[in-house]
Amino acid sequence: MVNFSEKEVVEGLKKHFPEPRIELDYKNLYQLLIVVILSAQTTDKRVNQVSPKLFEKYPSPRDLAKADIHELENILKPLGFYRRKALLIKECANSLVERFDRKVPDSIKELTMLPRVGRKTASTILVNTFNIPAIVVDTHVMRVVTKRLKISQRRTPEKVEEDLSRFFLKDNWIYISKALVLFGRYICTAYNPKCGECNLYYICSYKKKAR
Ligand code: SF4
Repeated sequence: MVNFSEKEVVEGLKKHFPEPRIELDYKNLYQLLIVVILSAQTTDKRVNQVSPKLFEKYPSPRDLAKADIHELENILKPLGFYRRKALLIKECANSLVERFDRKVPDSIKELTMLPRVGRKTASTILVNTFNIPAIVVDTHVMRVVTKRLKISQRRTPEKVEEDLSRFFLKDNWIYISKALVLFGRYICTAYNPKCGECNLYYICSYKKKAR
């Protein structure tokens, strides 16, 4: 149990990020799905550098499903793990064509039927494009809510998601899903968190917090 309210967390976050937005560039749902998959183990900035070329060459799921794997790997090379990523997005595009009539589905259940699309990716799609409440738990959110604010003490993203969905009002899920990712990325960073400028300082029980 924590001794602060969800309102205090939301208000503190709003001072940092009044209108948080995903930092990946995309023009449609298909593009968002692909860039979210590509963003694993790399930075959004790097994905944004590669994605214009990728979508120029493969503007639709059908084009990507038919891509020559070596050409695709070449485009993805700057991202690291490019062989695996090329395979993943090609499989995902293929599944979109064959199972979903080329449309990105709008539920966690259907999104997670796509190959290698987990709850984090599915929730990211829902909150950023469909405006459907969901909780995104990535590595930043895990650190902030389990090790720093201690809203959850559990160890897996699924269990932490359960705790967050109980702690935060459903009306705030979309907001906190976007804001906590940015908060972890820019304020409550893994190394040297910026406690001196943190609006959640007074409720944070992290032992090593510093002014
Ligand atoms: S006070 Fe420091 S450790 Fe605590 S939430 Fe803020 S940035 Fe993170």
